[in-house]
Amino acid sequence: MIYDAAIIGTGPAGLSAALTLKANSKQFLWIGSRCLSDKVAKAEKISNYPGFSNVSGEELNAAFRKQVEDSGIQIVEQMVNSIMPMGSSYAIMAGSEFYQAQTVILATGIASNGTLPGEQEKVGRGVSYCATCDGMLYKGKTIAVICNNARFEHEVKYLAELAKTVYYFAGYKGICNLPANVRIMEEKASGVLGDQRVSAVALRSGSTIAVDGVFCLRDSVSLATLLPNVATEKNHIAVDRAMVTNLPGCFAAGDCTGRPYQYAKAVGEGNVAAHSVIEYLAEKEKRGV
Ligand SMILES: Cc1cc2nc3c(=O)[nH]c(=O)nc-3n(C[C@H](O)[C@H](O)[C@H](O)COP(=O)(O)OP(=O)(O)OC[C@H]3O[C@@H](n4cnc5c(N)ncnc54)[C@H](O)[C@@H]3O)c2cc1C
Repeated sequence: MIYDAAIIGTGPAGLSAALTLKANSKQFLWIGSRCLSDKVAKAEKISNYPGFSNVSGEELNAAFRKQVEDSGIQIVEQMVNSIMPMGSSYAIMAGSEFYQAQTVILATGIASNGTLPGEQEKVGRGVSYCATCDGMLYKGKTIAVICNNARFEHEVKYLAELAKTVYYFAGYKGICNLPANVRIMEEKASGVLGDQRVSAVALRSGSTIAVDGVFCLRDSVSLATLLPNVATEKNHIAVDRAMVTNLPGCFAAGDCTGRPYQYAKAVGEGNVAAHSVIEYLAEKEKRGV
């Protein structure tokens, strides 16, 4: 099936885009987290969002989740690893799944953690963003896992079932019980090393750990990995007022397009992006392409 649109990201921008596409009876795919957005849930007190005088992030996120439930919109709980333009549509790779959509709305927020030096160059040569896709390649081997969110721990457990040893670099507090072959690292990783393939992880202290592969499980993927040809400006996706990017059929909304990083801006842009998708599809249909 080719969807009318795929929305990547379940924060306020993605939610607003999803509600607008649903109201306009579009067939769309919404990929992200059923918990919606950590950036909403973790806010202590919000006083600048219309309709709520003084609300906690948890309360606002719960209100967003209720609206999703009431609307009947389904969220596909996955991370999108890459998006590829394919002429008049886009191929979307999420875990081991492949989807196709005529248009894409990027609502991915800003990456809280950047990539490590050496990481990007070794993608496909020892660096992976997908445990279920590439885990089998590391059966009986030694790997490092860099993870910034507890919600990926089930993937760490899956990798630990396959690998001999897992060096675990967790960028969050409250690590759960992980299998005995997972060594929790106190030190932070500072880079990915290797000539042709990954051979080691560098540590901040200057020492290194020999590994066969590195899995990066983060709640965001760098733009260069996600959609390499999308134009950026000062590290944000470049868009016009209709949230149109440089790629035909690709739109963006929310923090990923730049400051101010605010709920109201994200919601407004998600709405505009969805309307632009609707116009784009109508225009495409008129032209018969
Ligand atoms: C602690 C804190 C307090 C804040 N307080 C306020 C406030 O009081 N008022 C205010 O206006 N703003 C506040 N903000 C800012 C606000 O949270 C952001 O501006 C807003 O959440 C942006 O929405 P978004 O939809 O663009 O991105 P996000 O909310 O970041 O959502 C993006 C979503 O996309 C997902 N995603 C990313 N990449 C992928 C991928 N490749 N595949 C699948 N899913 C992906 C992420 O996991 C995330 O769920 C606060 C932020 C923080 C961190």
